[in-house]
Amino acid sequence: MDIAGGTRENEKQRMEAFSSRCRENGIKLTHQRREIFREILQSRDHPTVEEVFDRVRRRMPTLSKDTVYRTLWMLREMGLIGTVGYPYRSVHFDGNDRSHDHFLCTRCGGIVDLEIRGERAVPADLGDLGRVESTYVEYRGLCRTCMNTEKE
Ligand SMILES: [Zn+2]
Ligand SMILES: [Zn+2]
Repeated sequence: MDIAGGTRENEKQRMEAFSSRCRENGIKLTHQRREIFREILQSRDHPTVEEVFDRVRRRMPTLSKDTVYRTLWMLREMGLIGTVGYPYRSVHFDGNDRSHDHFLCTRCGGIVDLEIRGERAVPADLGDLGRVESTYVEYRGLCRTCMNTEKE
């Protein structure tokens, strides 16, 4: 059910989008910021700030958690990445820019991308409310691992 990871081409284009957004906003595109964005683009498990920090720090020991935090939220504000998860738990960052749904495990908090198959049935006419441009569904339940633990 997983959507295949982003292509190199997609990664290149999005890195270019990041650098032009930085230029527009007068933000310096440092090596650390690039590496943080690259990590998100290559992850498909919706990592938290802590997880991104742990992974990128392995190749950049001078990295601070504060830089990771600020860079991820900057990317989110620039519309280059998304966020997902329960509001009362850690925020998870999402580098998948293709339209997709999520399956959230209510026990372990795991989040998996689900491909949208076919056309989604949406109310054809919202009347005065406006116009639907996209939809997003969050499925909640127990993942296979948690189901197996429950059985034991
Ligand atoms: Zn689970
Ligand atoms: Zn996702």
